[in-house]
Amino acid sequence: MTMSNASSSVSRRSFMRMAGIAASIPVLSESHFAWAAQQPTKPASKPVSQQQMMKQMMMSMPKDAVLINANENPLGPCEAARSAIASVASKGGRYDILEMMNLVDVFAKQNNVDPDYIAVYAGSSEPLHYSVLTYTSPTRSFVAGNPTYEAGGRAAEIAKAKVLQTPLTSTYSHDVKALAAADSSAGVIYLCNPNNPTGTITSRKDILWLLDNKSKDTMLLVDEAYIHLSDAESVTDQVANRKDIIVLRTFSKIYGMAGIRCGLAIAHPDVLRKLESCGQNAMPITSSIAARVSLEDTALIPARKAYIAEARNETLKFLAANNYKVIPGSQSNCFMIDTGRKGRDVMAAMAQKKVIIGRTWAIWPNVVRISVGTKEDMAKFRTAFKEVMDTPPTSAYLHTPFEDVSFPQLS
Ligand code: PLP
Repeated sequence: MTMSNASSSVSRRSFMRMAGIAASIPVLSESHFAWAAQQPTKPASKPVSQQQMMKQMMMSMPKDAVLINANENPLGPCEAARSAIASVASKGGRYDILEMMNLVDVFAKQNNVDPDYIAVYAGSSEPLHYSVLTYTSPTRSFVAGNPTYEAGGRAAEIAKAKVLQTPLTSTYSHDVKALAAADSSAGVIYLCNPNNPTGTITSRKDILWLLDNKSKDTMLLVDEAYIHLSDAESVTDQVANRKDIIVLRTFSKIYGMAGIRCGLAIAHPDVLRKLESCGQNAMPITSSIAARVSLEDTALIPARKAYIAEARNETLKFLAANNYKVIPGSQSNCFMIDTGRKGRDVMAAMAQKKVIIGRTWAIWPNVVRISVGTKEDMAKFRTAFKEVMDTPPTSAYLHTPFEDVSFPQLS
C-alpha cells in the first residue's frame, strides 16, 4: 500500500469513528503496561475492568510503597509550573487556544522549528498511537527494536498490521541496518531514543543513516520521550525538509507532568493533518501553561538530569559492587537488571517488600526494568533487592499482594 492508500484507510477509520466504533480503541500508556505487569498469576474470582483493576491496586498500595515501576518522575512539575497552573485555573471555563499557541511558539523558538510543524496533545501517547494507526495497515507493517516501548506495537495490532521486531545491537542501541532491512514495505519504523526499557541511546548519525536508507514511503517515528535525561542528539531538525519523519516529545518525563498531560508531535504540516483525522481534542489550559513555563525554566533540565543521573549511578555502582548483572549504557530514568531468575518472581518478591518495580519483556524474561525514583526511593530499592536476591525464589513469590484483582492480558 502507498502513502495515499494509507490515507484512504484513514478516511475509512474516520467514518468508523463517526459511527462510534473508535471508542473501543484504547490509547495505552506506560501506566497501563506498568500496572498490568503487576497482575497476579492466579486468576481472580471475578473479572474486573482495566480501570477498576488500576484503582484497586493503587488503593491497596501502602502509603510508604516505593513506586519505581512506570518511569514516572517523582519530582513532579517544577515550582513555576505549579504556580502557573494555579494562576490560570480561573480561566478554565473557556476553551483555550492562546495558551496552547504560547507553548507552540516557545518550543518553536527554542528548537528552531516552524510553529506549523508542531501539534500539541495531552501527552505523547495519543500522537504515537495515531501515527501508527495512520501509517500502518494489514499490508504496511510496523517495525521496531526488541525490547522497546510497546505502545506502538499495540496500536499496530489494532490496525491489523504485521509487527516485526529486530534485536538491539551488542551495545543495546537500535540496529538501524536491521530496522531498514526488516520490510521494504513497512508503514512505520519506530525508534525510541533513549530506548524504553534499556535507557540506551542510538546515535544521530545512525538515525540519519536510517532516514536515508529505509524505503522512501516508510514513516520513521522517533520517540524522544526521554531525550533530555540523556546526551542523545535530537532529530527534530529533520522535519523541515521531509515528510517521512515524525518526532514525539512528552512533558511526562524530565518535566514531571505525567498527571498533567502534555506531549508534542513534530512533523511536516501535511503529516500532522493526517494525524488529526484520528482525533484532535482541545488542550487543558493548565497543561499548556505548565508545559510552557517548564520550557522557560532554564535551570530545570540540567538540575533534574544531574539528580536523576546521580540516583541512577549510585544504584548502578551498588549493583556492580554486588555482582548483579545490569544491561549497560542507560542514560535515562530506567535501567534493566538480569536477575538470573524469573523476573516476574523478583517483581512479586519486591512488591511484598513494598518496592514496586517495573516489568519484564518477553525477549528477556529474567530481566526487570527499574525506574529511577528519588535517592531515598533508590536506597530502599537497594536494600530490598539484595534481600530478595539473597533468598532463593519460592512459590510464595508467585503472587503479588494484589492477588484479588485481575487484569485483561495485554500480551
Ligand atoms: N513514549 C515512551 C517511550 C514512553 O515511555 C511513554 C511513557 O512512558 C510515552 C511515549 C507516553 O507518555 P505520555 O503519554 O505520558 O506523554
